[in-house]
Amino acid sequence: MSAHAAEKMACLSRNPALRCFSLPSFVQRTRYSRALQPSFRSGVLRRPGLQWVGVAPLQKGRLSSGCQVLHHRTLSVAAPQAVMSPPSPRTQTEASPELVTQLGFEKVKEQFLDEYKSTAVLYRHKKTGAELMSVTNEDENKVFGIVFRTPPKDSTGIPHILEHSVLCGSRKYPLKEPFVELLKGSLHTFLNAFTYPDRTCYPVASTNTKDFYNLVDVYLDAVFFPKCVSDKQIFQQEGWHHELNDPSEEVTFKGVVFNEMKGVYSQPDSVLGRVSQQALFPDNTYGVDSGGDPAVIPKLSFEEFQEFHRKFYHPSNARIWFYGDDDPNERLRLISAYLDEFEANEAARESEVSVQKLFSEPKTVVEKYAAGEMGDLKKKHMVCVNWLLADSPLDMETELALGFLDHLMLGTPAAPLRKALLESGLGDAIVGGGLDDDLLQAQFSLGLKNVSEENVGKIEDLIISKLKELADEGFTPEAVEASMNTIEFSLRENNTGSFPRGLSLMLRAMGNWLYGRDPFEPLRFAKPLENLKARIANEGAKAVFSPLIQNFLLDNAHKVTVMLQPDPEKGSASETEEKELLQKLKASMTKEDLAELVRATEELRLKQETPDPPEALATVPSLSLKDIPSEPTQIPMDVGDINGTTVLRHDLFTNDVLYADLAFDMSSVDSKLLPLVPLFCQSVMEMGTKDMDFVQLNQLIGRKTGGISIFPSTSARRGKKEPCSHIVVRGKAMSSQIQELFDLIRILLQDVQFTDQQRFKQFVCQSKARMESAMRGRGHSIAASRMDAKMNIAGWVSEQMGGLSYFDYLQTLEKQVDSDWPSVSESLNQIRTSFLSRQRSLVNLTAESKLITRAETHVTSLLDALPAGELSKVECWNSCLEWSNEGLAVPTQVNYVGKASNIYDTGYQLNGSAYVISKYIGNTWLWDRVRVSGGAYGGFCDFDSHSGVFSFLSYRDPNLLETLDIYDKTVEFLRELELDDDSLTKAIIGTIGDVDSYQLPDAKGYTSMVRYQLGITEEERKQRREEILSTKLSDFKKFADVLEASKSKSVVVAVASEDDIATANKSRPGLLNVRKVL
Ligand SMILES: [Zn+2]
Repeated sequence: MSAHAAEKMACLSRNPALRCFSLPSFVQRTRYSRALQPSFRSGVLRRPGLQWVGVAPLQKGRLSSGCQVLHHRTLSVAAPQAVMSPPSPRTQTEASPELVTQLGFEKVKEQFLDEYKSTAVLYRHKKTGAELMSVTNEDENKVFGIVFRTPPKDSTGIPHILEHSVLCGSRKYPLKEPFVELLKGSLHTFLNAFTYPDRTCYPVASTNTKDFYNLVDVYLDAVFFPKCVSDKQIFQQEGWHHELNDPSEEVTFKGVVFNEMKGVYSQPDSVLGRVSQQALFPDNTYGVDSGGDPAVIPKLSFEEFQEFHRKFYHPSNARIWFYGDDDPNERLRLISAYLDEFEANEAARESEVSVQKLFSEPKTVVEKYAAGEMGDLKKKHMVCVNWLLADSPLDMETELALGFLDHLMLGTPAAPLRKALLESGLGDAIVGGGLDDDLLQAQFSLGLKNVSEENVGKIEDLIISKLKELADEGFTPEAVEASMNTIEFSLRENNTGSFPRGLSLMLRAMGNWLYGRDPFEPLRFAKPLENLKARIANEGAKAVFSPLIQNFLLDNAHKVTVMLQPDPEKGSASETEEKELLQKLKASMTKEDLAELVRATEELRLKQETPDPPEALATVPSLSLKDIPSEPTQIPMDVGDINGTTVLRHDLFTNDVLYADLAFDMSSVDSKLLPLVPLFCQSVMEMGTKDMDFVQLNQLIGRKTGGISIFPSTSARRGKKEPCSHIVVRGKAMSSQIQELFDLIRILLQDVQFTDQQRFKQFVCQSKARMESAMRGRGHSIAASRMDAKMNIAGWVSEQMGGLSYFDYLQTLEKQVDSDWPSVSESLNQIRTSFLSRQRSLVNLTAESKLITRAETHVTSLLDALPAGELSKVECWNSCLEWSNEGLAVPTQVNYVGKASNIYDTGYQLNGSAYVISKYIGNTWLWDRVRVSGGAYGGFCDFDSHSGVFSFLSYRDPNLLETLDIYDKTVEFLRELELDDDSLTKAIIGTIGDVDSYQLPDAKGYTSMVRYQLGITEEERKQRREEILSTKLSDFKKFADVLEASKSKSVVVAVASEDDIATANKSRPGLLNVRKVL
């Protein structure tokens, strides 16, 4: 229910400077996840551009930059045709019947999933009723998950706080945070936990079997026997507590979830999603916030928390998932050891989610959100129309048809409903993500943001009239074909990006399973898909889709229109309210009470800051260096050329899909035009040619390919001043459609006309709206790119195209589009002519060699069609932002604090140990101080080995100066560090896990291209790996000297509340140059 549509658009101006910094969509919706994504936290090894961006279909839930996660509902329309791994014979697909009985299980049902070439067996643990789905196939990226139904009764955030807390130590693993030990020292390809409105999921994934079972055991012990139910301090740390350092100071609230949720509640999009969901479901569990409302969280008692765990974290209420190529017998052995300790309880009945009955009358809800003072507040309203589709389960074919309908209406820029909303000029960007069928009852939400006060009433009318029109007139055959092909392609490809495929399947199955329905059904889409296609063919699309629009939307009285009004007072009002509450509390306390609170505060901090004893650490199972390959993973690459253009070929099994990338050197683009490049890319995809308007062009791409995208990509190059900067076109198609793919790429590059002023204006407004959200929600990446831009040209280039400078540029551009469109249009043409050249391009092909060979004829024609002339370099990019510390003020309840320096400037020579050290700093020192005792949601560091920039960043942080002090003390931390062999080995293994991260074939091909562009050779990779593997404690000490030496040349950027910046400047005058951003 958040701004999925906006996120889809965000993909078009993907900013490489923000690469590793994004959260899974779960966090952005009303789902919460325990940790920031590991890749997000330890952005040591940058893996730019591994995912599809741009008009790649079905991007709901995908994020705009870096490590995007394919949200499971993306795939909820239908099922892929096959798992994309080379076929090979396998041995065992199910556990032996004797063992099943012996371990106390019974087999409930078994099916071969043709769609995934997998065998799925559902077991029931007889004594407790726990259910287990065991999926076996050839996928080496094994997945385990345990899910409990955890519907909350209030907004104290119990499920969310519990989700955090159970991973803080357990019976068998009695250390502070086994979860962090796993983050540090395992080869996991996925490790996190999510809280939904009605369930809590604990998934792990790994390609290494031994590692996988280690992860599973730690998770099982954590959920069933956590320390947090007996140790109140864990609840205080993760949930909430009062903090008082000295009786003379003010009492404050602290807690990881408390601050995480303050961040969530500081984002208007999140507020809108929350208000909408709660208004749609006033009568059941979805009417409260499972994540926790910061105003309500402090009402939660430890006793309620304990009781919630006792009741719901029980085998009788558990659904367990295994997936991959490991031994199915071993899975049952592992699980039964835990389940056998329990007797059945009533949890399964008590955790049932009740159905929200449908309204007989539509409703309207008006709420306020905390807005900044910048800009015209009258234009900052948000409107979202929401429907609850049904109060009884939908059959698979209806769900599938609704998924198609959703894609038809909203899935692409050419989709009519989406187009109508954006072209109406009533708002800048779309909110509400269309169909959402994650929960018990499906919803549909849609609206606009940045709406003028006088237009607020018009949004609903517009949506309704457009729906009526679509019901009356239906969709064009081209549109239907495009959606069909797009969805089918996506299913066949089953490309879940960096998200494990087995996890995406688990989440999908859960949509039925959790509610007592058939878990196999959501995985068996081939038949319903065929039926739907047959119906469309026989009866026509209108006969299929019009009744859906009519019944589920137009005639449906369960409709809630939510209007969100900007309120510049609200932010400070909630802060004042919180302060007054705490002052009242303090006033009511006796001297003894105060002394006791100071003591408790100290005690908690001491506990948090005391390292685990070695014997506790030793309980967490880990691999030894012998378990990991000493050689780097190889990606096949053959370097050739076609008429003088370099062509890279990666011979990989891709299941008949060709992945093609074209990278054009961007260094010839005039530096003044750089901020226009993201919008240039969007225009290329969405402006149309002389012969085809953009709708036709978009539909053609949908009908003939698996998606095409275009975006700028910039990285520093080690040892060079000039950055490595490209405009990249990515496309994919089935083998039968290769020619169409290259034809379309040529049309996009050459024939698109930059003449549509009105459309361009929309792009500008959308980008502006997106950047506004980024300022509040991704302040750490804004800060990081700002700091980068002060230190190197690559950083500066990226910031021009996606940072605060870009945001500034958009304000000017918006006016210029009205006042002087011809010059804007001319600039767009100028960008095209300045980079489009055969000589300055690189072609990257990934598929089986036969397919690559076939593709080369088409590559040749494409290259022949491109201009051949050598381009002159217009201007040398030689800029950096002014060197100053900045405080960027935004309306937020939590801050993002950054500090960075370039360690190469101190003479430091890159050594693989830097990866180990920086990951270690992030997972220990910063995690403990910034997150655990500081109360921030995240604290991490990032080392860019290309530029040498080493940065510290915090995320949703209640502090500012304190956090900077922690960064500075990193030097002492390293100097005083004592590391036993075990801990060092773990740190090394965890780093190798990052280096060897699991990738699907398209990502492998792309990574290999980036390495080629950056001049990273196999020899160098080998050397780095050896350095990583031989990292010693002395390297940590040497690194302390490096950080020390770079201290004097470091820069600070904080994206923070105005108050906190002022307070910081008061205590350290002149520290930050203040600038109000929102
Ligand atoms: Zn959380």
